[in-house]
Amino acid sequence: MNADYVLGIDVGGTKIALGLVDASGRQVAGDRIPTHAEAPPAVTVQRMVDRVHALMDEAGISEDAVRAVGIAFAGPLDPVEGRILTPPNLPTWHNFPVVDVVEAALGKPAYLENDANAAALGEAQYGAGVGVKNMVYLTVSTGIGGGAVLDGRLFRGETGAACELGHIKIVYNGRECGCGGRGCLEAYASGTALAKRAQEAVAAGEPSSLAELAGGVQHIRAETVVQAMDAGDELATRLWRETMEYLSAGVGSLVNTFNPRRIVVGGGLSNAGERLFGPLREGMRRHAMAPLAEVAEIVPAKLGDAVGVIGAAAVAWERLGEKS
Ligand SMILES: [Zn+2]
Repeated sequence: MNADYVLGIDVGGTKIALGLVDASGRQVAGDRIPTHAEAPPAVTVQRMVDRVHALMDEAGISEDAVRAVGIAFAGPLDPVEGRILTPPNLPTWHNFPVVDVVEAALGKPAYLENDANAAALGEAQYGAGVGVKNMVYLTVSTGIGGGAVLDGRLFRGETGAACELGHIKIVYNGRECGCGGRGCLEAYASGTALAKRAQEAVAAGEPSSLAELAGGVQHIRAETVVQAMDAGDELATRLWRETMEYLSAGVGSLVNTFNPRRIVVGGGLSNAGERLFGPLREGMRRHAMAPLAEVAEIVPAKLGDAVGVIGAAAVAWERLGEKS
């Protein structure tokens, strides 16, 4: 093969996804390896490099055909210095200069990006945001994250940490959030928050089938709420409706802030499909200002589990100045 590729690497707390991606966003080879959180990161990088060389051999891709490396990492990180800061689930990686080490090991330019921002760029370039200049990406799963692509470019902010969309405030002095603040969107509308609110309601004695369905109050998950709602459970229905209202308030604020053409929603909770997208579209129109709401459409993400690698690759292509 003579075409050019970049290597996309998505480093998570338990696994690392690797892929060789061409300029049209097609992954031609890829794999997942365990992160081994306790291992020194230099050892982990060497395992990644070994696997990448094997992938190149298997796919018949020469060393010269790989132009650059994009690394998506669950922050906090410094994308300018190419350094990991203090990820709570990967303590051995604290202050690790990942870009320098990867560049030395592979002999290619490497670029580091917060994983949610990389995912936003991936969806914008190759997924549900194709053809749109202004897009906001929101992932709603155990946490809430996102990014914004504005005028066709990833919006990074002053230190590359822009768009912590899970931590926009929707309730003044509200529930405690994992970020140390209060009243954040994530503390109300993430899958974890929905499960917690459901557990609290059941523990407070509200009648519901949730505990029985889950096999115990502490086992209630967001999926349990959806399942119970489908079976007509009143508490589950109310909790879901409230969650959609919180999410709509957050998305309404994003529409008012960024004036996007499209809001792309991914993550585990979006698997609820129209149960989520229906109320979210309706709620966003109530919460956002009319002229901005009119041009904003809310659509499901397209890249699924591939978004980590494709997003990292999109970062590499953008930095290389390539536009497919
Ligand atoms: Zn927060």
